Amino acid sequence: MSPDARSAWFRTLGQLMLVLAVGLGVGLLIGHPWPALTIAALAVVAWHYWKLRGVLLRLTARQRQAPPTGTGVWNELDRLLARGQSEMRARKRRLLSMLRAYRAAAAALPDAVVVVERNSQRILWFNEAATPLLGLQHPRHQDASVVTALQPLPMASWLAAGRNAEPLTDVASPANAGMRLNLRLIPYSDELWLLVARDVTRTMRLEHMRRDFVANVSHELRTPLTVIHGYLEMLDPEDNPDWAPMLAEMQLQSQRMAQLVEDLLTLSRLEARDALPEEPVAMTPMLTALRREAEALSQNRHRITVTDEAGIDLLGSTRELHSAFGNLVANAVRYTPAGGEVELRFARDADGGATLSVRDTGYGIPAAHLPRITERFYRVSTSRSRESGGTGLGLAIAKHVLGLHGARLEIESEVGKGSVFACRFGPERVQARAPNHATATP
Ligand code: ADP
Repeated sequence: MSPDARSAWFRTLGQLMLVLAVGLGVGLLIGHPWPALTIAALAVVAWHYWKLRGVLLRLTARQRQAPPTGTGVWNELDRLLARGQSEMRARKRRLLSMLRAYRAAAAALPDAVVVVERNSQRILWFNEAATPLLGLQHPRHQDASVVTALQPLPMASWLAAGRNAEPLTDVASPANAGMRLNLRLIPYSDELWLLVARDVTRTMRLEHMRRDFVANVSHELRTPLTVIHGYLEMLDPEDNPDWAPMLAEMQLQSQRMAQLVEDLLTLSRLEARDALPEEPVAMTPMLTALRREAEALSQNRHRITVTDEAGIDLLGSTRELHSAFGNLVANAVRYTPAGGEVELRFARDADGGATLSVRDTGYGIPAAHLPRITERFYRVSTSRSRESGGTGLGLAIAKHVLGLHGARLEIESEVGKGSVFACRFGPERVQARAPNHATATP
């Protein structure tokens, strides 16, 4: 209790005692002490009720009133409540102005922001940008179902995925067919979701231009390179022994350039597609071919093993998957010193999917490089990659092919111990092995 409150409390107690003592004194004087004491006590209770009414009136008053000035416990209580009330009002004002500032900031965002109630999937609020980007109108779409309001976007299935919903990329805006959008769902509380849409029309146009440029340049380079490569192959070093080292280097470099152009064209081809054909991919011949390629590249410098425990086939594009797995196998051989091991393992996963992993006991990759290792032309060691004939595009191709199959590339590596590149396919990509392949061994 504060000193002010304590002294007010004692003063009121004193007043109470005084009234009762006066009542008792008067009662003794007139010879009826108990009735007089009772009247004094009732007067005290009535006075307290009166004060309590005053406090209640102040608390429920619509208009703000000046704080009481008197002494005593009721005035002190009244003053404390008035102070509490005015502090609460000030806090409310501050919160309101903050809320207004946040709303103004959200309204001014160039991205469309929509607050959606999770259970009912109703639109609670949206900012100004939601009108040109998503076609939402005030007040028509206030409280409307987000699934209906944003048709033909595949909202229902997307919202059903909830927290696990992957961003929708490069989709047409429901308001303007020429506009491309990226959509993200951010669950920010148990009941509320934030749907954020960004206009990526310009970025996508630039991306298409970049893709076309790379594809065209690669295509244009292919023919002259083939010609140069062809003529270089025809030159015999024995005709001019002095030129032999230069000729060998020129042949090597033209081969590298041809491979680079082929890899760039492969990437462009993959980037231009949204999906690949879903044909059965016979895994027994695939593993046999991969083993053969690894052995050819290794030239007996490594121990190569292939284990097929899955006993199933995959669904997808045989050609593209072969190119992806082939890149991983080639890397395992190229980045493992002589005497090391390379192991290919095809096995089922607990979720019904399947994983093809390529393990090596090679140089390994420092952890700091892992997040960027699948970017095109990203290399841990440029000299080692060049020495081993790498183009810097192998992992980018592998990741792209797996992405088109809804599969993931998981990489684990330890410097000096080796790496594991695991391609994880979901259950929807698994199918029973064709009988004529079931008995063949890789
Ligand atoms: P590159 O043609 O240079 O091999 P990739 O895209 O195939 O390009 O690989 C990118 C980089 O990742 C390589 O330069 C290499 O540094 C590293 N890398 C890939 N696979 C392995 C591996 N099995 N062991 C060690 N490093 C690897």
